[in-house]
Amino acid sequence: MGGFRVATAVVVLSVMVALPAGHTAPSGRRLPRIDVHMHISPTGIDRLLTLMDKWGIDGVVNLSGMYPGPPRNMLEMQLEAARRAGGRIAVFANVDFVRVVRSRPDYGQGLAEQLVQAKKLGAVGLKIPKGLGLGYPGPGGKTLLAVDDPGLDPLFAKAGELGMPIAIHTGDPKAFWKPANPANERWDELQAHPEWSFYGQPVPSWEALYKAFERRVARHPRTIFIGVHFGNVPEDPDRVARMLDKYPNLYVDTAARVPEIGRQGAAKMRRFFEKYQDRIVFGTDTGVGESQDEMMYGSNGANPPTAADEKRFYEATWRYFETTDKQFESPTPIQGRWKIDGVGLSEAVLRKIYFENAARLLKWRPPVKATVAQ
Ligand SMILES: [Zn+2]
Repeated sequence: MGGFRVATAVVVLSVMVALPAGHTAPSGRRLPRIDVHMHISPTGIDRLLTLMDKWGIDGVVNLSGMYPGPPRNMLEMQLEAARRAGGRIAVFANVDFVRVVRSRPDYGQGLAEQLVQAKKLGAVGLKIPKGLGLGYPGPGGKTLLAVDDPGLDPLFAKAGELGMPIAIHTGDPKAFWKPANPANERWDELQAHPEWSFYGQPVPSWEALYKAFERRVARHPRTIFIGVHFGNVPEDPDRVARMLDKYPNLYVDTAARVPEIGRQGAAKMRRFFEKYQDRIVFGTDTGVGESQDEMMYGSNGANPPTAADEKRFYEATWRYFETTDKQFESPTPIQGRWKIDGVGLSEAVLRKIYFENAARLLKWRPPVKATVAQ
């Protein structure tokens, strides 16, 4: 509780009995939230709704919508599951890069058709995983499909035409390109997941991937991009700022990168959030399955996360955005052993980043639970 602003401590204390940390704005009102970056299994809806109510999250975006059509009709299944949640879940579709690129010479057109179908069914955006650039085979199958492959242009153009934002993950933490040994700052995470290391792998350099990402954003000014994980370069907020200045069609989410941005100077990050308050959307990268063992909060260790991991994840996240506390444990210590400093955003900025920016981008306002009675 030491994390709350002194001026509002009395107000906050009065609701602490019923609510965990972080549920109230400085005004004493509850802050509505949309988490734009989740991965939800169709069998995890009950668990998801419990989690949302517990932590004060009104709407979520499921980035794991998958593809429409046979044989598995996964997108249809995901949309049906979302409907059961009473308007609290929006779904981003994926497209089947591997199969379509292999089977059609005009694969960009084929992928665009898949996106049209996804939109008709009810998907509101497109999520592109890091597999683009790092894993999917290109035409001919001998090289990797590049993030800026011109053959894919029809897909990116179509998303803009359809008004579907593209949440795009390119690259990964820079540390994953460095040797996986105790000197690596993400050693804990790499020990738990050795396959996450790209060191010595036949993949492009981090920098080459990032430049391809930039060319892609530049090529489609009428398409909205959400660069996930703080614009794909959370290690370098100045570079994120330059990208946001240069490309008005670019937004960033905060998913799974509070540890990374939390070790930047708090004053510098507060200025960043204030300057780009209309371009940042809140996300966590929480994965929800049917059982606790299938959960993921931002990242996972070797073992499934516990209730204590969940509590630390959400409490440290609210604490980062809402307080100016110094040197506290990050939401996901497995991502690095450093401590973080809170940015203590104003209520006006919090409302935009937590809710309003996503609502505007997605043209979607999930129902917000009533204000907490004082
Ligand atoms: Zn994710």
